[in-house]
Amino acid sequence: MVVNQIPPRILVKSVAFPLLAPLPSEAVFLLQDFRLAVNNAIRFGIQARVSSRNAFNRLAYRDFRIAHPGMYAKHLVCAFEVAGAVLKNYRRRLAAGKAVSTPYVRRLMMKAENQAYKLDRGNGVIDLPIRAGCHVNLGLVVSRYHRRYLDDQSLSLGSLTLLPDRVLICFRREAPKPYVAESALSLDTNERSLDGIFVKDGAGAPIKADFSDVAIIQQRHYERRKRLHKKKAHDRRTSRRLTSREGRREHHRIEYRLHQVADAVLDFAEANHSAIIIEDLTGIRPRKGKGFNRRISSWPRRKLHQIMEYKSQWRGIPLVKVDPRNSSRTCPICGSIQKSRMGQVFECECGWSLDGHINASINLLQTASAKGLAGGLRFSPGAFQHDVVMTLYDPAMGARSELNGTSHGRVAV
Ligand SMILES: [Zn+2]
Repeated sequence: MVVNQIPPRILVKSVAFPLLAPLPSEAVFLLQDFRLAVNNAIRFGIQARVSSRNAFNRLAYRDFRIAHPGMYAKHLVCAFEVAGAVLKNYRRRLAAGKAVSTPYVRRLMMKAENQAYKLDRGNGVIDLPIRAGCHVNLGLVVSRYHRRYLDDQSLSLGSLTLLPDRVLICFRREAPKPYVAESALSLDTNERSLDGIFVKDGAGAPIKADFSDVAIIQQRHYERRKRLHKKKAHDRRTSRRLTSREGRREHHRIEYRLHQVADAVLDFAEANHSAIIIEDLTGIRPRKGKGFNRRISSWPRRKLHQIMEYKSQWRGIPLVKVDPRNSSRTCPICGSIQKSRMGQVFECECGWSLDGHINASINLLQTASAKGLAGGLRFSPGAFQHDVVMTLYDPAMGARSELNGTSHGRVAV
């Protein structure tokens, strides 16, 4: 019986801003120098067996100052931090017995702490010091989405990450105190949808957010990868490159949709001042079997929960996770637990029968309210309205569905 209630804390959101113009040469030089410093620090850290920022500052700072005369001192300290993070990850993998070669940062990037740059939030211009007396101004592309973050004065600035074509800026805020729930939205997470009930004033109605296109995307990309693999069997390097590109695309497409689903659910909850109840998926192992695991990867559902959790904290929407044990086998009227897994429809000897997913969501709600986590809401399952399903999201509302990838056999190389 694990219930996660999230204590107030600092939330960080990283927002990507494209650059208005190509990077000036001084900034390109800084990126190269920063990467060099990170890679040198990684090698130094492995030799000296250190990875903390303090240890780097104590042991290596002086030498690095001499080796990188063109870099602002604060950037150098940040390079130590990046190297430290890389090293920690490396040591963890080493300890886990995963043979890994000495880490090396290939892509151009640099990180700067919030004292090491200035952002004009009105104009969207970054003032980045390169070294003493040398600064560059970087103009950012500012859309309406970006304005929301720039104009919100309750958000403070965190670190900045500079990449050749864009800048990532961290915005920080203290987690707002969640509102007091006046209704509840209990959702059972399934392979293709969130199904559940919306409960207000003692009455409950069925509710659905359909993300079946995620499974379709997964299936298509799986087929594509399989085809690529076959076609490029003679060239493993190209095969790897193409399949990993496929993987990234799939990832982006799915994540985009999951964000939309989460937003739709949270908008509804916020408008109705609802507490959101979902199951705690941690500790639930996917069932065995190759075909099964491929068909129903549990990743999208976990990711969807992660997004919902994070966004609800950011927006001050109460969200609770409850142990889903037996939620699909329990009768909410008489409390008896069915031995076998139910099919589409849950049926009990006492006469209660209901769509299996919605039944599960009622059980999640019961678990939450038994623990006083559903905002003190009372709901008797008998007051459930069977007729109308409110749709919070369906694929037609979202992104244009892509061309049918299963029918065209050609992949651009
Ligand atoms: Zn029953």
